[in-house]
Amino acid sequence: MSNVGIIGGGIIGLTSAYYLTQAGHKVTVIEKGNLQEGCSFGNAGMIVPSHFIPLAAPGMISKGIRWMFNSKSPFYVRPSLNPDLLKWGYLFYRNSSQANVDNAIPALKELSYYSKSLYQQMAKKLPFDFGYHERGLLMLYKTEEIESEERETAEIANHYGVEARVLTAEQVQDMEPDVRVDVRGGVYFPGDAHLTPQHFINGLIHYLKEAGVEFKTDCEVFDFRIENNKIQELTTNLGNYSFDEVILAAGSWSGTVAKRLQLSLPMQAGKGYSFTLNNIQKNVRIPSIFLEAKVAVTPMENNLRFGGTMEITRVNHKISMNRVRGIVESIPKYYPEMKVDVPGKEKVWHGLRPCSPDGLPYVGRSKQLQNLIVATGHSMLGISLGPGTGRVVADLMDGKKPDVGLSAFDPERFN
Ligand SMILES: Cc1cc2nc3c(=O)[nH]c(=O)nc-3n(C[C@H](O)[C@H](O)[C@H](O)COP(=O)(O)OP(=O)(O)OC[C@H]3O[C@@H](n4cnc5c(N)ncnc54)[C@H](O)[C@@H]3O)c2cc1C
Repeated sequence: MSNVGIIGGGIIGLTSAYYLTQAGHKVTVIEKGNLQEGCSFGNAGMIVPSHFIPLAAPGMISKGIRWMFNSKSPFYVRPSLNPDLLKWGYLFYRNSSQANVDNAIPALKELSYYSKSLYQQMAKKLPFDFGYHERGLLMLYKTEEIESEERETAEIANHYGVEARVLTAEQVQDMEPDVRVDVRGGVYFPGDAHLTPQHFINGLIHYLKEAGVEFKTDCEVFDFRIENNKIQELTTNLGNYSFDEVILAAGSWSGTVAKRLQLSLPMQAGKGYSFTLNNIQKNVRIPSIFLEAKVAVTPMENNLRFGGTMEITRVNHKISMNRVRGIVESIPKYYPEMKVDVPGKEKVWHGLRPCSPDGLPYVGRSKQLQNLIVATGHSMLGISLGPGTGRVVADLMDGKKPDVGLSAFDPERFN
């Protein structure tokens, strides 16, 4: 049994704690906030094996430049001369290639399906309901241009064994009997699922506490003592702590923490917003993505959550109401009978997606530091890939060969 310290209490830290506890380890989660503030709460809750193409892909650079001049656009890079952002931008540019996509697809697909199978087990085993449903995902489009892009994605998906069905507008409407949908058509991915993130996270925290996991909240790790290629001590505002093994799962902050470990983990925050409509009488049945607007829509029992925008930035918590307006204005274009007011700023949730420059997470044991495992950088897929990552972390800890390949996720690939 090892004494394990996990830096970060988001989905990745918590799922790691879950599988490590099951494997018999003593676990402490160190969290600088109150466990309610990270990226893992107000997100869209989609579990999406359909999302096997990384953010860094051909065409993203030109799309990004086009969108940068529109204050309501779904993708934006906040210009800055900050060296970390410049380095990240250069690496993103270099990795927006077909070679990166070809390398990423099998790796992401495998981890994604693995993770989904673990959610199925958790839904049966955990003593709380987290709103897990397997209803698939509808990718909706209104324009010819996006239709042709999405049909191509559907072909690639089917080629890789991810089932995708191209639907006419009428077929989409048939799947949504209670809400009028105005689209040119859609692609349906029946293998996707969804959950209610705050129920999952809060339920898991409670469960882990009962199982003996220690939580140190309002406790920020800001330095380390390293000797003989091992982390000997973590320095925090609440004192120093020693562990046999350390897991770095600090989301968007992981790049900064890694610097204190002399590791290069290029990371930028991809800020996104969400808001939730409550007590909907006639709700959407199937989660969807408005493709032109890049807005994710997820029914969570009788509530409906809208999430979107990807603003690449250093960690900052400013809410851009213009981008929230962009999300609101897209809704009646796809659901014409759904008139939604712009929510007050206090009703808007924001999260910082931990984005690596090649769109792939960093998961693996460090070669430089013997007692460090890195598990971060899941960008838009932290919910999807959470349990799979947590299970892999526990296997690595025990020296077992994980059930999925990890070479694409090497945490030291940018060193
Ligand atoms: C609008 C939006 C919609 C999304 N929708 C989806 C979706 O549908 N499906 C999906 O799969 N993903 C989705 N995501 C992405 C997903 O939310 C993230 O990938 C995921 O939450 C990242 O989890 P994490 O544990 O790595 O990071 P976080 O949840 O941010 O957790 C990291 C934690 O580490 C703590 N920490 C940082 N530094 C330190 C330190 N030095 N000391 C101690 N603690 C520290 C932080 O306080 C934080 O709580 C969405 C994101 C957004 C913004």
